[in-house]
Amino acid sequence: MKTHEYQAKDLFASYGIPVEKHILCRTADEALQAYDTLSMPTVVVKAQVLTGGRGKVGGVKLARSREQVAAYAAGILGMNIKGFEVEKILISEAVSIRSEYYVSYIVDRNSKSVMLMMSPDGGMDIEKVAAETPDRIYKFTIDPLTGVPDYLARRFAFALFSDMQQVNPMATLLQNLYRLFVEKDSSLAEINPLVLTDSGNLVAIDAKMTFDDNALYRHDDILALFEPTPEEKVETEAKEKGFSYVRMDGNIGCMVNGAGLAMATMDMIRLYGGNPANFLDIGGSSNPDKVIEAMKLLLSDSQVKVVLINIFGGITRCDDVATGLLKAFEQINTEIPVVVRLTGTNETEGRALLSGTRFLVAETMGEATQMAVDITN
Ligand code: GDP
Ligand code: MN
Repeated sequence: MKTHEYQAKDLFASYGIPVEKHILCRTADEALQAYDTLSMPTVVVKAQVLTGGRGKVGGVKLARSREQVAAYAAGILGMNIKGFEVEKILISEAVSIRSEYYVSYIVDRNSKSVMLMMSPDGGMDIEKVAAETPDRIYKFTIDPLTGVPDYLARRFAFALFSDMQQVNPMATLLQNLYRLFVEKDSSLAEINPLVLTDSGNLVAIDAKMTFDDNALYRHDDILALFEPTPEEKVETEAKEKGFSYVRMDGNIGCMVNGAGLAMATMDMIRLYGGNPANFLDIGGSSNPDKVIEAMKLLLSDSQVKVVLINIFGGITRCDDVATGLLKAFEQINTEIPVVVRLTGTNETEGRALLSGTRFLVAETMGEATQMAVDITN
């Protein structure tokens, strides 16, 4: 689960990580009020969207007067940044920056541990640093049993700073960020940039946190921050109906019983030169209501040009599945071609029931996939 900068900053503040003063606004009027409340000559107007790289596309502006605040707020609100519409902005205290650093904790799959990453070259070009000068990104694997005790925190802090005026607060910051990361089951806690101000203080002027979806059940406070994207909304609804559904960008809608078979189906589609529109595991059972719901889900995606139903009959018998499909499609109104591959228990009976109907019946997975791909071509 992703969160907005302002939400991550609120969490930072509650864990003692220094952030600059900021006020969340939804309108240009609110932005002006926030400017008056902060009562400092220069502020930063920042788009709040669930994606990064806002600075490069004009979503972060330094405003030096009331007029500029009004103009930038009006300009940024409603902007579209990488497909996300800006509905909220942050009016933040501007800080005078001496240098920008990168700091993050992530779950690293290779070391099966949390990893701390830091760079003295933080800021908007961190991707370039990672690509061109990777040795400028320092990585430390954290042992889950020891975490980040004082001596390690200081050692890490010395990687970026030598003056104790920064080393000490940096060590504390690294400990606090680690505590936040672990206690809230985060998968990423990133500060880019962490800045050293002209007066020698460290401030997190950007903040990004993502959380492990599978741990949200034990963090009501984090779950309350959830703002689903349109795709996530569809996925959540699907979950409530007992499906496991992930939207993709292809045009072959898949309906499969079993997660492994669903993965294999997607692989087959790619192998035959097609593109799956989704992963959809409808689970066992041939219940027509389930098929109707699953079809509604697939047809809600306007990209879908053909539906591929791939069923392996085990305990669920193929003739039952066929009967279920026929019953379901009495209630489904669509011109979209539907390819069905039935195999397993009572497969011949199942296919016989479907022959001569609206369904395109296939025997093998290869045959079914070829049919679906041919239709999209
Ligand atoms: P991002 O582009 O989405 O990562 O947004 P950031 O919050 O990281 O801001 C982008 C850049 O804007 C930063 O790297 C800074 O260089 C600049 N910036 C942000 N806030 C301030 C500020 O208070 N003062 C100054 N001078 N620059 C800022
Ligand atoms: Mn940033």
